[in-house]
Amino acid sequence: MGWAIALHGGAGDIPRDLPQQRRQPREAALRHCLEIGVAAIKANKSPLDVVELVVRELENIPCFNAGRGSVLTNSGTVEMEASIMDGNTKRCGAVSGLTTVVNAVSLARLVMEKTPHIYLAFEGAEAFAREQGVETVDTSHFITPENIERLKQAKEANRVQIDYTQPMPKVEKEETIPNGDSQIGTVGCVAVDGNGNLATATSTGGLVNKMVGRIGDTPVIGAGTYANRFCAVSATGKGEAIIRATVARDVAALMEYKGISLEEAADYVIQECAPKGTAGLVAVSATGEVTMPFNTTGMFRACATEDGHREVEIW
Ligand code: ASP
Repeated sequence: MGWAIALHGGAGDIPRDLPQQRRQPREAALRHCLEIGVAAIKANKSPLDVVELVVRELENIPCFNAGRGSVLTNSGTVEMEASIMDGNTKRCGAVSGLTTVVNAVSLARLVMEKTPHIYLAFEGAEAFAREQGVETVDTSHFITPENIERLKQAKEANRVQIDYTQPMPKVEKEETIPNGDSQIGTVGCVAVDGNGNLATATSTGGLVNKMVGRIGDTPVIGAGTYANRFCAVSATGKGEAIIRATVARDVAALMEYKGISLEEAADYVIQECAPKGTAGLVAVSATGEVTMPFNTTGMFRACATEDGHREVEIW
């Protein structure tokens, strides 16, 4: 028993020879966000506050596919989505189709706390953001040169792609892009405190070249995000596959109905249920276990536990 926290910056076909200039900023960002989460847990913030805080920070770092770094739709627009869930109460909130909200995860929390609903999308969600006075900016803020280039490549290859899909841009081309980053990913965080209180949050721009109006797994409670009194789970990967496999809920259900450990449950869902190459997750249990399985080439991930264990990994 003890606190634990885990976070991810997306799973996918991350090339093993990822150049240092792309690898290092992401590892540094994961480490930075992990430390923010650890400090918050140690300061006795609730797991719900911790996951919101960490995901906000991840949303603000443009090398991840959420908030400012969100990938673009097939019309070159941004449609961000996020969700958050508290394990004990199963209260949850979700948003989709955001075009101006700086921190989608915080709007999801407001949906949970200030409305009788769970999920708001598109114009209704944007109007709610204004009513609540959350920070908004012109949508052009989210349309970065890196993501315009990613969309161009996805269109040339005629595919809707997870943000790590190969082929990656040629290096010469990349160097013409400010900051030259080609691998980015959806973000998520799970946390448990020393009393077994659990929470999870996930945030994303979705898939590169997705249809306007497409909603992925991230804001779908039970698919990309789920917490109950046994565990908290945040998934990443191909949204359509994750929704079909009800990834996050199945981990919790296996623990609840079969009485198996977090690691066994998560491994079963990721290795046996979700199609290979489609999914990864981070999860913590009420007793402070942590697991971060994936069936893709890699997943940007990090975790820390009360007993001093720290991990920041990609493959
Ligand atoms: N799961 C996200 C989606 O399909 C993408 C990701 O995890 O990178 O929208």
